[in-house]
Amino acid sequence: MKGRLIIISSPSGGGKGTLIKEVLESVPQLGYSISYTTRLPRSGEEEGRHYHFVTKQQFEEEIAAGSFLEYAEVHGNLYGTSLAHVNQMTDEGHDVVLEIDVQGADWVRKRVPDVLGIFIMPPSFAVLKARLIARGTEKHDDLELRLTNARAEVLEYSKFDYVIINDEIFSAARKLAAVIIGERQHRNRQTEAICDILDSFDVSKHHLPGE
Ligand code: 5GP
Repeated sequence: MKGRLIIISSPSGGGKGTLIKEVLESVPQLGYSISYTTRLPRSGEEEGRHYHFVTKQQFEEEIAAGSFLEYAEVHGNLYGTSLAHVNQMTDEGHDVVLEIDVQGADWVRKRVPDVLGIFIMPPSFAVLKARLIARGTEKHDDLELRLTNARAEVLEYSKFDYVIINDEIFSAARKLAAVIIGERQHRNRQTEAICDILDSFDVSKHHLPGE
């Protein structure tokens, strides 16, 4: 069966990166879409692992070539999801995590059927601010921009199927894994397996004891 798209959004500093890393290690058949971005790499970020880092011109060429499932400008940089990469993983039967912002989430939700949306909510503004400052990856202006945008982003929570409050990372990671695994048990996602099982109950194909 083809895999499903799982959108995971949160404001910057919401901790979704760490959560997703945990879940990719614990949940089988789960892929991750590596986005394209015009943002410069942070220290420790690797090309092709965290993002594909490209220039604005390269990004615009990819837009023109129709390479993106979705793209958006977020906090002053461009970010986009590779259509080919996502299709390859879903064709192989993997559910695919899209770690994208709320604009990209809107776009995908409207155009792709049966998307699962999960919002990672920080426990408070103060905690979000403290986490972003402690991360130390943004200069003052960028940090302010991300914190200013956070309010509009958290208000988008109601468009998502599930909300996970990220107060403690391991507890939140367990909840995230439980949602993804739980969703796989929905009867509509198991029709092939169920048909095979029901087929095995066809009495005309079996001798019952005493027959
Ligand atoms: P960061 O610069 O902190 O890595 O990411 C900034 C924001 O861009 C985050 O909300 C992140 O989820 C979002 N983002 C990352 N990749 C994509 C993408 O491919 N598309 C969209 N729409 N947003 C993305």
